[in-house]
Amino acid sequence: MTYLPTAEHDELRAVVRELADERIGPRAAAIDETSEFPHDLRELLARQDLLGTCFGEEHGGTALDTIAQSILVEELARADATTSLIPIVQKLGALPIILAGSDEQKDRYFPRLASGEWLIAFALTEAAAGSDVASNRMRATRDGDEYVLNGSKRFITHGSVADVLTVFALTDPAAGGRKGMSAFIVETDTPGFAAPRVEHKMGIRGSPTAELTFDDVRVPSANVVGAEGEGFKIAMETLDRSRLSIAAQAVGIAQGALDAAVAYAADRQQFGERVVDFQGIQWMLADMASQTEAARQLTYVAAARVDADAPDLPYWTSSAKLVAGDTAMRVTTDAVQILGGYGYITEYPVERMMRDAKITQLYEGTQQIQRLIVARQLLQRAGVARQG
Ligand SMILES: Cc1cc2nc3c(=O)[nH]c(=O)nc-3n(C[C@H](O)[C@H](O)[C@H](O)COP(=O)(O)OP(=O)(O)OC[C@H]3O[C@@H](n4cnc5c(N)ncnc54)[C@H](O)[C@@H]3O)c2cc1C
Repeated sequence: MTYLPTAEHDELRAVVRELADERIGPRAAAIDETSEFPHDLRELLARQDLLGTCFGEEHGGTALDTIAQSILVEELARADATTSLIPIVQKLGALPIILAGSDEQKDRYFPRLASGEWLIAFALTEAAAGSDVASNRMRATRDGDEYVLNGSKRFITHGSVADVLTVFALTDPAAGGRKGMSAFIVETDTPGFAAPRVEHKMGIRGSPTAELTFDDVRVPSANVVGAEGEGFKIAMETLDRSRLSIAAQAVGIAQGALDAAVAYAADRQQFGERVVDFQGIQWMLADMASQTEAARQLTYVAAARVDADAPDLPYWTSSAKLVAGDTAMRVTTDAVQILGGYGYITEYPVERMMRDAKITQLYEGTQQIQRLIVARQLLQRAGVARQG
């Protein structure tokens, strides 16, 4: 199992970096300020074939390996975390279908997702069910050859701009969330669906985080993903893989802040010297660089484990997200410190990066939940896991 990036990976990084530096970075401050979803950048990514990297060539995708997908996210996030969420969520929403969908579902949806014509979102979280996913309440009741969905979802990235959703709802409430939840594909033009509210946020402000409501939304039984009752398992298997994208996003944000700090400190003079020549600043930069590199390499190791479908992949992807998220928070905070007062004002990008970094410690499982997953795997490896 190799995890060292190849020449093709380096080439992809160079291409995406150039695109991000020229077209995305210059838009980042305005996207943050206006909190508007960057439709233009979604189209740019679609035109560059960068929204279909997780789909097979038979569906019009480019079928990149997971290290390449991580590099794509990393380079976009280095310029703008909001924009990096466009491919991240395209994969997150599609993963349930990739993992458990029928051929008919894949043929119906993947070509439009791979081309970027359609966006997809992943609707699992509810107001009362965040970390405790199994306490979900949304219902799906069978009625002949259809299911009728009722309930609401909270905090759904791209929920207000997506054309289609993967939605998790209870088909057997008596069995509870773990055994009685099922996954559905819902097209957002279905009567009874609405996205009535978009949150105001600290960071990733151009990425709409929506509340979704389902009022007698009817979907054909052909839209059930996997078997009835498998929803919880599908959701967990999806998150075990997709949180690696958040690790890559965190690495990209950290790298963007480090690069900005080096550039600023090389330019700024105090006490007749460049700030970058003070040893105290160099030590901070060295810590920021080595920690970012450690997070990056762990992300690639985990990516190789995902491609190998390794049985212990949750250990790797959760470790990567845990380390990378904490690194992004620390590195962006230090970047603000290195820029001094200028780091605190919106004229420079590092305060935005610090605000953007915070979400990587929260979504797709908080850092506490990542620790639970790593610990569970650790105890299993050691043969000391509690039975039952
Ligand atoms: C901007 C944004 C985008 C999002 N996008 C999506 C999306 O696209 N789709 C989707 O389905 N969801 C999405 N979410 C939801 C996100 O995944 C949840 O917010 C997250 O999982 C945490 O749930 P919660 O907010 O309800 O916190 P809670 O679960 O209420 O947690 C509160 C605190 O308790 C801690 N905690 C909880 N349980 C434990 C435990 N067992 N042990 C120790 N500590 C614990 C948590 O770590 C946290 O510190 C998004 C959230 C945000 C903010």
